[in-house]
Formats: sequence, C-alpha cells, structure tokens
Amino acid sequence: MHNFHKERTLVVIKPDGVQRSLIGEIIKRFERSGLKLIGLKFIVPSAEFIEAHYTLDKNWLVNVGNKSIQGLKDKGIVPSTEDPETAGRKVLDTLKKYMVSGPVVVMAWQGANAVKIVRKIVGNTEPLASDVGTIRGDFVLDSYNFADADARSVRNLVHASGSVEEADMELGHWFKEGELVNYRLVQEQILYDVNLDGILE
Ligand code: ADP
Ligand code: MG
Repeated sequence: MHNFHKERTLVVIKPDGVQRSLIGEIIKRFERSGLKLIGLKFIVPSAEFIEAHYTLDKNWLVNVGNKSIQGLKDKGIVPSTEDPETAGRKVLDTLKKYMVSGPVVVMAWQGANAVKIVRKIVGNTEPLASDVGTIRGDFVLDSYNFADADARSVRNLVHASGSVEEADMELGHWFKEGELVNYRLVQEQILYDVNLDGILE
C-alpha cells in the first residue's frame, strides 16, 4: 500500500456554520466520504490568529483580491478598486471580524486526495456559484456582491485548505504536535487494501 492515503487537510466550520446548527450535517459529509478524522477542537480564534492564518501563503492576499474583482466583473458589476492587493486587504479585514464572532470547529481530515476531495464537498467560494450538492451550494445564499455592498465577508460556512502545501502550513498553525491522532480505521481496509482478501470466511 502506498502512502497516498496519508494526505491531510484542514477544515474549519466558521461561526455561521456553528450558529446555523450545521455542525453535524457538515461533519457527516466529510465522514461518509471515507476520510478519517484525526484532529478536532472547538475554539474562539483571535483576530491576530486569523490574520496569520490567511497570510501563511504570501500570495493569498493578491489571489483573493483578483478573484473578488473578477467575480464582480463577471456579473457586470464595477469593482470599487482595480488593485488586487487593496481588494485582498479589504477581504482580510472583514475576515478578522467574521471569524472571531463566535466559536469555530477545527478539524484535520486524512485520506487519499484529502485536499481535493474536501474542496469538492465544500464547493465554490461564492455560494451563488457553488454547485447544488456541495455544502456551500446547499446551505448558503450569499454572493460577492451582497457581501461587498455591506463591507463584510462572504458567509460560506466552512474553510478548507486549497492545496497540499496550504494544508501543511494551516495544520501546523491550528494544531500542536501531538494533537493529531494516528490510528487505524477499520474501513480503511476496504478503501485502500490491494487484495481485498480478508472479507470472505
Ligand atoms: P476559500 O475559502 O474558498 O479558499 P479564499 O481563500 O479565496 O476562499 O477566501 C477566504 C474567505 O474569504 C472566503 O471563504 C470568504 O469567506 C471570504 N471572501 C473571499 N473573497 C471575498 C470577497 N470578494 N468578498 C467577501 N468575502 C470574501
Ligand atoms: Mg482559501
């Protein structure tokens, strides 16, 4: 068996997910995928901690700015700034209010293709554009436009790491050494075992 099933990713149920009583619904969707929960905590983060989280990747600010400008333009809306860094900084400021407004559920999930599988289950950043069947598509009706008009974050229930590198940095930020648990889950045999030779008696 290769080590591909050891890929890890960070998921945070944001304050709106907790307030809308969707903790169980959200966890269920990751759990039934076959991924393994290896870390879990319930905390209220600080604004400094959130800023550090979103700036672990030095390119995030410009990327999120570009995504936000493009998202508005795609709908024929003129963005208030054309500068991605300024737009990104605005998003970060709103995130520092949003993410500290109440408790969040922090989770580490492990399994084959964990990062991409989780992003697929979570759906597109903007709920208006996320597919039905995804967490953001099924439970949210927010858009960049509405969030922008009220100078607040898009409320989209969950954070999920965007790449394996991002996941490694974020897991190190949210979890201490020893808080992630190594253990065997019985269903891993049916997910990953090469020969499936332990089933029939
Ligand atoms: P994702 O969470 O899908 O990885 P990003 O990393 O691009 O998305 O952005 C982080 C979070 O910032 C989003 O989940 C959303 O809550 C918020 N956000 C992103 N872009 C905007 C925007 N243009 N306006 C308001 N909030 C935004
Ligand atoms: Mg992201």
